[in-house]
Amino acid sequence: MVVLSKVNKHFGALHVLQDIDLTITQGEVVVVIGPSGSGKSTLCRTINRLEPIDSGSITIDGRALPQEGRALARLRSDVGMVFQSFNLFAHKTVLQNVMLGPVKVRRETRQAAELRARQLLDRVGVGNQADKYPAQLSGGQQQRVAIARALAMQPKVMLFDEPTSALDPEMVNEVLETMRSLAADGMTMVVVTHEMGFARSAANRVIFMADGRIVEENTPDEFFGNPRSDRARDFLSKIL
Ligand code: ADP
Ligand code: MG
Repeated sequence: MVVLSKVNKHFGALHVLQDIDLTITQGEVVVVIGPSGSGKSTLCRTINRLEPIDSGSITIDGRALPQEGRALARLRSDVGMVFQSFNLFAHKTVLQNVMLGPVKVRRETRQAAELRARQLLDRVGVGNQADKYPAQLSGGQQQRVAIARALAMQPKVMLFDEPTSALDPEMVNEVLETMRSLAADGMTMVVVTHEMGFARSAANRVIFMADGRIVEENTPDEFFGNPRSDRARDFLSKIL
């Protein structure tokens, strides 16, 4: 579903992604962990071309991502993204937030977009909040709206970049539960997170990044039980 081949990316002199090779198959849940500054967010942002790459290739569902233009907008909608900060439009209602992309980018009718938006809001457990504004919702509810908004574009892959890092602790689980249920429904997912419980229970594969490289790649059981690299052992000893 997603294939990165020899992807390199610099920010000035900083070589932030170094020869990244990564293949994610349909329905797979890949959790990306690693120290701050290791390139996890940049990796996510290159997958949907929020950041251009210097060399290498990225394909989504067999198609190369074009560099720009309308083809890029269309292909980018194959990749849903959920960030640490929810990034909802403050002056639009929850329902309007979820309908906007389908109407503007996918050219769906308002009627069709609204029907789907309501179904998605129900699915993430905030169907009764549809007419409220984001500020009237808790952080956990807002993040679930952000997930519904991404799903409304009918993506083939969902990227989550530390989706629970900005939440109060009591709201983390409701968002992780929503993500677990998406995974159980077969969504292909890349999840950057420090939630090791989620990584252990929901991931098919754990990718450990350090200094712009994939240092280790394994099943969660193997990774947490028997990390092979010093970098991974050191990282795990600090967070577990
Ligand atoms: P992570 O998400 O693992 O914490 P990032 O991908 O955000 O890491 O960042 C990797 C490195 O790239 C860091 O050193 C960061 O400071 C740098 N970086 C990220 N974005 C930019 C940018 N837009 N311009 C310059 N440097 C950046
Ligand atoms: Mg980051």
